[in-house]
Amino acid sequence: MVIISAKKLLMWEKKQLLKGGDKKSLNLLIDLLGGLSKKEFNFLKIKPEKKVELKINLELLEYFWEKHLNSSIPIQYLGGISYWRDLKLEVSSKVLIPRPETEILVDIISERFKNKSKKITFVDLGTGSGAIGIALALLNPKWDGLATDIDKNAIEIASRNFTKISNQSNLKFYLGNWWNPLINFKGEIDLAVANPPYIPLKTYEELPKEVKKFEPRIALMGGEDGLEHIKEIVRYAPSYLKEKGLLLIENHFDQGDRVKELFLENKFTSVKVLKDFSGIGRFTIGRYK
Ligand code: GLN
Repeated sequence: MVIISAKKLLMWEKKQLLKGGDKKSLNLLIDLLGGLSKKEFNFLKIKPEKKVELKINLELLEYFWEKHLNSSIPIQYLGGISYWRDLKLEVSSKVLIPRPETEILVDIISERFKNKSKKITFVDLGTGSGAIGIALALLNPKWDGLATDIDKNAIEIASRNFTKISNQSNLKFYLGNWWNPLINFKGEIDLAVANPPYIPLKTYEELPKEVKKFEPRIALMGGEDGLEHIKEIVRYAPSYLKEKGLLLIENHFDQGDRVKELFLENKFTSVKVLKDFSGIGRFTIGRYK
């Protein structure tokens, strides 16, 4: 712990911003690495005489800021933490930094399942940091959740996140590709949700450095047309879902119609493409028969 004056920190912030980068990222750095939340930081502006406690000294904080500016490494990876919905999740470069638009998946589900007392079994396929699965398990303590991921590090991070955030036991983690580890749950799933890798190869190659260089390719790239994994998830969903079970998948901005077709080809009904914050058909949902 280091104790400095608010004035000193505010001057430091000004100096750092002259080097480049944006205020939002710097504030996130001060929060995740310095241990001072944005709210606390903003409060200092009206109380410059105040003393503040930081987890690391300004020299070290500056070192991390410059590292971010020079290499484009996301602040979340520097701090090993990402905010998502009301959760503070551990992340590493083995998992995707959960995106704001993905938060909507949880809202779509909450809207569909208003009767919270009904017990259901849900699956989060390709859970990564555990974001979606953990949010659902916390919001619905009566539900039983299963989360899968092909990466052992991701499963470790996700289960650590769940244990750290909650003392509930309604989410279990399974190592393996998409549905594969759920062989014992065939025909028992009421709801399956996934944010799979869906970026087409060519688009992936052109992604900004901060994504391409640091985030796991395996969590982003969906083959030539981006649909490789979505196809697999939809094709096998009927073996695992109960009759009338729901499947909800996040897709790329221009894949909505194609994913809808895939759902229909696999006997899903009431298929809809739902929009994200920017009005893009980002989520496809359907009922199995
Ligand atoms: N929306 C993410 C991005 O653009 C992609 C996530 C994914 O492929 N599932 O970075």
